Amino acid sequence: FKAIEKTAEAEGPVDLSAYKHVWVYAEQRRGKLMNVALELIGEGHRLSREIGDDTKVCAVVVGNKIEHLAKECYEYGADTVYLIEDDLLENYTTDGYTKVMVDAIKKYKPEIVLLGATHIGRDLAPRVAARLNTGLTADCTRLDVKVSSYIDYANKNTTLDTSSLDPNSDDKGLKQTRPAFGGNLMATIICPKTRPQMSTVRPGVMQKKEKAEGATGELIKVNPAIQKSDIRTEIVDIVKSAKEIVSLTDAEIICSGGRGLGDSSGFEMIKKFADKVGGVVGSSRAAVDAGWIDHSHQVGQTGTTVKPRIYFACGISGAIQHLAGMQTSDIIVAINKDPDAPIFEVADYGIVGDLYKVIPQIIEEWDNA
Ligand code: FAD
Repeated sequence: FKAIEKTAEAEGPVDLSAYKHVWVYAEQRRGKLMNVALELIGEGHRLSREIGDDTKVCAVVVGNKIEHLAKECYEYGADTVYLIEDDLLENYTTDGYTKVMVDAIKKYKPEIVLLGATHIGRDLAPRVAARLNTGLTADCTRLDVKVSSYIDYANKNTTLDTSSLDPNSDDKGLKQTRPAFGGNLMATIICPKTRPQMSTVRPGVMQKKEKAEGATGELIKVNPAIQKSDIRTEIVDIVKSAKEIVSLTDAEIICSGGRGLGDSSGFEMIKKFADKVGGVVGSSRAAVDAGWIDHSHQVGQTGTTVKPRIYFACGISGAIQHLAGMQTSDIIVAINKDPDAPIFEVADYGIVGDLYKVIPQIIEEWDNA
């Protein structure tokens, strides 16, 4: 923060009023929007209406031959779509996408830029922020628009040195909340002197808007000034992972296993359970660390954040880092032999018992249902 402030000061104060609208980087892969893009359009819609003053939510779609994605963006709440298309943007490259995003942000001056905390979002956002000399809060789980001045907020809520903040500012800044110190506290972060305000947001945390079939909006085609020499990497081939691809973020039902399974063979039962109920297999970090299952299944702070309709936690104690990734699930069912396990504090349904007895019974009941 101090470093950014120093750079910003060196370049002179930023005219905050020149920046307007909420931008969402609508991440797409092979011509398909990621779920998190739609969640962020929903969140951007909410924020833009809260800010008022005709603030719009704008989806920015980068790639090649992706104009068809604009329709989906409008239907999920975007007022405007910025389309940045070029043959050189066919596949994601750090250099290429950073360049076109930075150019577009400099030209159109959005007030807020949101990206999904995906592998690509986590690669792109810090580079864009650094080139723009602006702040970035990574891995947010909550965003709010501040309505009073920063100094009021800072005085009431933090021990920040507020002497450099302008008490008369009525700037409506973004309050960004993210877990800190291993998930043991929630930090609220503000970037008061720079624009745009940038955040990456975890998938599965924000709410998509209900689809408004046939909705349309404004389309702005941005002509990217990009050349082959701007991109230092060359993609020779794209090889799909031989590993089973798990789509935890989009799953409606997740059956997760933890250290309580005892060994790797326990996941055979969890897989059977998941197949039976139409779910996918998740896990705690303890199970991943023990080598029982691949990291792509891990739910939690250093794994995937999920929000299924039903989350089964089997032999998982409920450590805060695990909860950080699944506690917003619609229904949580915990199976644990320890009645005092913290997972029961967040569970909607709790079954105290040995999972090797309970899960086969659930599978049997499911067959009879
Ligand atoms: P344990 O805590 O050992 O719990 C096992 C549970 O199984 C116990 O409650 C026990 O009562 C129960 N049990 C045992 N046998 C049976 C049985 N037969 N039937 C029923 N119940 C049984 N963890 C994550 O999960 N995801 C993360 O992303 C993550 N990120 C982390 C990041 C950091 C920086 C740190 C420090 C830690 C992180 N952790 C994460 C680790 C986390 O702190 C816990 O260590 C981990 O979640 C514990 O996994 P567990 O619940 O499977 O194991």
